[in-house]
Amino acid sequence: MNLDNLLTIDRESIWHPYTSIINPPTIYPVERADGVIITLKDGRQLIDGMSSWWAALHGYNHPVLNQAAEQQLSKMSHIMFGGFTHEPAVQLAQTLLNILPPELNKIFFADSGSVAVEVAMKMAIQYQQAKGESQRYQFATIRSGYHGDTWHAMSVCDPITGMHSLFSKSLPIQYFLPQPSVKFGEEWNEAAIAPLQDLLEKYHQNLAGLILEPVVQGAGGMYFYSPIYLQKAKALCEQYGVLLIFDEIATGFGRTGKLFAYQHANVIPDIICLGKALTGGYLTLSATITSEKVAEIICSGEAQCFMHGPTFMGNPLACAIANASIKLLLESDWQAKVQRIEQQLKQGLAVAKDWHCVQEVRVLGAIGVIEMKQPVNMATLQPRFVEQGVWLRPFGKLVYVMPPFIISDKELDKLIKGMLKAIKQEYQLGS
Ligand SMILES: *Cc1c(COP(=O)(O)O)cnc(C)c1O
Repeated sequence: MNLDNLLTIDRESIWHPYTSIINPPTIYPVERADGVIITLKDGRQLIDGMSSWWAALHGYNHPVLNQAAEQQLSKMSHIMFGGFTHEPAVQLAQTLLNILPPELNKIFFADSGSVAVEVAMKMAIQYQQAKGESQRYQFATIRSGYHGDTWHAMSVCDPITGMHSLFSKSLPIQYFLPQPSVKFGEEWNEAAIAPLQDLLEKYHQNLAGLILEPVVQGAGGMYFYSPIYLQKAKALCEQYGVLLIFDEIATGFGRTGKLFAYQHANVIPDIICLGKALTGGYLTLSATITSEKVAEIICSGEAQCFMHGPTFMGNPLACAIANASIKLLLESDWQAKVQRIEQQLKQGLAVAKDWHCVQEVRVLGAIGVIEMKQPVNMATLQPRFVEQGVWLRPFGKLVYVMPPFIISDKELDKLIKGMLKAIKQEYQLGS
């Protein structure tokens, strides 16, 4: 298909994430991707700074993951999970049990991150109902979170960036707390937990669960907060009979420097959601994992079972690739790689702290964020990145990188330089 044709049909008939059909922004046709290099259809090559939204840890077109996919494909791509089981799902369960705390041992495999969050929230509701607490059907969360685009997942996303006003009549009302005021690495201040304490004191009778992205808030604000908040939240949730749900869909599998972000706090939640990097960015797959205690209470309730079962549950192809991806990660020196990326991002991005248009620069693990004072103009900034040979996708005030872990020092250097140069041009900062 020629380039013009492709772009015309795309523009006329396809929605892209959060875009207008009337006034679509520039879109770049991709031909292929290998390692950290994305090749556009016109031949231009870009260094990937996004890991396709937290997912592609090992880069693209990886021989080991390709092989896992091909092997499984020759047996079966999919089979229903009702009444059947298979080695890819069972092996993935074993793999996950080995890397999660022993308390978390009942696994529900679903097909996307948003669904994993819906599943977690439904688990919390069924758990409370089974305990005779059916008045506990609401959720608490902190502002600037992101938990997915489906209905109840959206209800716990930040009300402003999630545009709750658009949906207010049909969206359940949840309880929103301020963002934890103590940032990651700052000294703990007990005032940071007071809003949660107050909320639970007043409203715990209505609350089924507290859902949080541990330590790193992703798409809702790229904000890093004190792990001590999680320790305090855990104690309060236990005290008030509220289930603690960690959404590790973005933070899981090494991105923050620990295999899972909850390990920064040594806090084990009642339910954890995994997704995104679970398959190394190859296919959509998610897992919601809870404890035996919670699972048994759910199944002793009115329904006698957990009420969810998507068509593509436990997809064998996705499970086989997830197994290979996690094995590849654990066998690699991922901690050293993430540390190296962290150091290089810290050094490389520091210059931007002094720019008048920049609010803050922050780095944690393999995540680097430049928060601008004002929302960026995507229509002008995105093409500048492409011109510099790097792929970044800012949103709002946030320009950020989270490259595949396999990126070399040289490639990361190019990525950082390209990022900074494009911003300087955009804001006419002179060189
Ligand atoms: C991306 C994301 C989701 C939603 O996952 P999808 O696969 O896009 O449905 C949920 N929670 C967090 C923290 C995420 O980053």
